[in-house]
Amino acid sequence: MSFSSEIKEILCKTQYECPGCRLSELAGFFACAGKNGSDEVRFSVSNKVLSLRICNALKSEFGIFPENDRRRLVIAGNDFKKLYTEISTDVVIYECCKIAYIRGAFLGGGSVNAPDKKYHIEFGVKSDEDAQRLLGVLEEFDFRPKITHRKEKTVVYIKESSQIAELLGYMSNGRAGLEFLSVQVEKELKSSAQRQVNCDSANLEKLAKASSKHIEAIKRIKAAHKWSTLPDVLREIGELRLKNPDLSLEALGKMTEQGIGKSGVNHRLNRIVEYAQNLRKD
Ligand SMILES: [Zn+2]
Repeated sequence: MSFSSEIKEILCKTQYECPGCRLSELAGFFACAGKNGSDEVRFSVSNKVLSLRICNALKSEFGIFPENDRRRLVIAGNDFKKLYTEISTDVVIYECCKIAYIRGAFLGGGSVNAPDKKYHIEFGVKSDEDAQRLLGVLEEFDFRPKITHRKEKTVVYIKESSQIAELLGYMSNGRAGLEFLSVQVEKELKSSAQRQVNCDSANLEKLAKASSKHIEAIKRIKAAHKWSTLPDVLREIGELRLKNPDLSLEALGKMTEQGIGKSGVNHRLNRIVEYAQNLRKD
């Protein structure tokens, strides 16, 4: 299921806050959904949950039962007239109804990108008049939408991530906003984990090479029975290295009694390697 469809399913679970909300949601929906002919509207609904919500609302508000025609729903003739007369009058009065209008518009012709792609939410509105109306309602809630034209629709859109999250929250009593934010957080975690992995695999190779050089040197010194002649601090780091061949210098440093830093560890291990090299010369 696309992210938009997921969000729409969440929106479909939002309760109407007042009797006017359902009508406002229908007004928003039919400002965007499908195509209008001279005496009919044909629209498709992206999923069953949405279809059920719209059909129930149409039945309750107007006693309209849309007909099925090749995977599209059709409202024609008198029903069409009745519907558009009712929803074109100013049904959007209360704040809750204004939000229901926005939600309906999104359900009818909206889409939103998952935040792991670019940030974009849009409403494809069938007439300029309705687009202006939607724009006005959005602005009342301090959103800053923009308008463009695409094919037969006027597109009202927002590209700012914080506004998108807030708008989804408004439309769904918070739930869709949370969904958006959780995907956004997941994206950020993933990309930082990916950076870590890329960085790690390059570093690991370097680390393994250095570690085997240290271990070889330590073993050589031990084999020559000279290990006990080394200063305590060198033996300490050497033993730690032997026991933890995969650990980074930083991590080894933290295990020392003094808690020395990376460069300190590096210095000590290099001294061990030098010692071993001198042994070879002897
Ligand atoms: Zn209301």
